[in-house]
Amino acid sequence: MTATLAERNARILELAEKGLSFREIGETIGCSRNVVAGIVNRKLGDARRAARAAKKPPPPQQIDRNPDGCRWIDGDPRQKGEWSFCGAPCVPGYPWCEDHRRRVYAPRERAA
Ligand SMILES: [Zn+2]
Repeated sequence: MTATLAERNARILELAEKGLSFREIGETIGCSRNVVAGIVNRKLGDARRAARAAKKPPPPQQIDRNPDGCRWIDGDPRQKGEWSFCGAPCVPGYPWCEDHRRRVYAPRERAA
């Protein structure tokens, strides 16, 4: 089996994430410890810097406590556990209750 350089590097990084030592990774992949160390230090360093720079918001979750209810979010979705959906009965045809539908559409309706 031949792997491209990118595939090999990806595999090295995958093993490094699992906590294998550079020597173990080198034996698994079939290259020297120094090659592994170079790739891991360079790429993982980039990845860590990128991760620090852009803290990912958590994916939407626990959203179906009331799947038919208003989808207006109370609180800040980026703060884990500090928000919830409004959950009030929706206006037919809208994902929001009357109150929140008005908030969403207010600027447009005012302009009209
Ligand atoms: Zn609502």
